[in-house]
Amino acid sequence: MVDSIEAIAIERVKALFGADHANVQPHSGANANMCAYQAILKPGDTVLGLSLDHGGHLTHGSPVNASGLLYHFVPYKVTPGDERIDMDQVRDLALQHRPKLIVAGTTSYPRRLDPAPFKAIADEVGALFMFDAAHIAGLIAGGVAPNPVPYADIVTFTTHKTLRGPRGGTILCKQEHAAAIDKAVFPGWQGGPLEHVIAGKAVAFFEAMQPSFSDYAAQIVSNASALAEALVGQGFRLVSGGTDNHLMVVDLRPFDADLTGKEAQNVLDEAGITLNKNNVPDDPRSPFVTSGVRIGTPSVTTQGMKEPQMVEIAALIARVLRHRSDAAEVAAARADVAALCAQFPAYV
Ligand SMILES: *Cc1c(COP(=O)(O)O)cnc(C)c1O
Repeated sequence: MVDSIEAIAIERVKALFGADHANVQPHSGANANMCAYQAILKPGDTVLGLSLDHGGHLTHGSPVNASGLLYHFVPYKVTPGDERIDMDQVRDLALQHRPKLIVAGTTSYPRRLDPAPFKAIADEVGALFMFDAAHIAGLIAGGVAPNPVPYADIVTFTTHKTLRGPRGGTILCKQEHAAAIDKAVFPGWQGGPLEHVIAGKAVAFFEAMQPSFSDYAAQIVSNASALAEALVGQGFRLVSGGTDNHLMVVDLRPFDADLTGKEAQNVLDEAGITLNKNNVPDDPRSPFVTSGVRIGTPSVTTQGMKEPQMVEIAALIARVLRHRSDAAEVAAARADVAALCAQFPAYV
């Protein structure tokens, strides 16, 4: 029974993304990445990955993560001017370091991530190419972000972010890597599969195949654009000036030089608005304090909110942050947040 459920999950996810091979057992996105590395790398091999403080993920070679301890990661960054991934720098670093693998994929990057130029650079230097679609898998499934599967040797993703399924990971790959991927997952990194989670993944893949999921993905992106524009109208600076996807990173310094991401996260939490602190590129503050916050629209979009509510949310965020030392004002904003949410019940 559980094997047939897993087989259904595999067939669905292969069809959803057009992949040769899928392994749906990884317990998380981080696990999926470590399995992918083990399948194609030897300890000490050189890999290019986006720097953590420029929007990359811990598993893309952070020195505090096993990826950075096991492999020789060389970080690439965003261009200081436009705060977008610097493809000239990626190419220069690839030519200089001759990596075995180039990793694309982001955790807090608000712009479209195009797999084709990464693939061209990987081919030029004879590297393999891996795309970590953890954040944007749902946008890809919904047709509002480019599908990396035709370009990448391996694509990893989480099933719990924009894909809106259970907490877990999945690996897709070209047929030539299939046996190595399966071996790296089991017995390489994991023991028995979490079959209950895999059943949830099968359901999530089914949902993501429905036309309504494309509508959802498109609305996430429209909502993010609307929220970004409204935040700019409230005097906030957005990293890279805006967003093409489901999230934005707000640089709080021009709004209020004394306001940290940590303080903003905490006071907004008191007002019933959930977001998280996030470094901005070349942030002078530590990752525990930060000068920015990261805001995403998938959950409010699931609740049914649209562009007009994004304008309201931007106003609420600005109001709370402007009056953050006024407990009565924060409490009043909390009541307004509750009133807004009451119009859009999460579960119906
Ligand atoms: C979230 C994320 C991961 C890790 O996912 P977990 O399931 O939390 O381990 C890996 N890569 C990227 C790019 C992510 O955003």
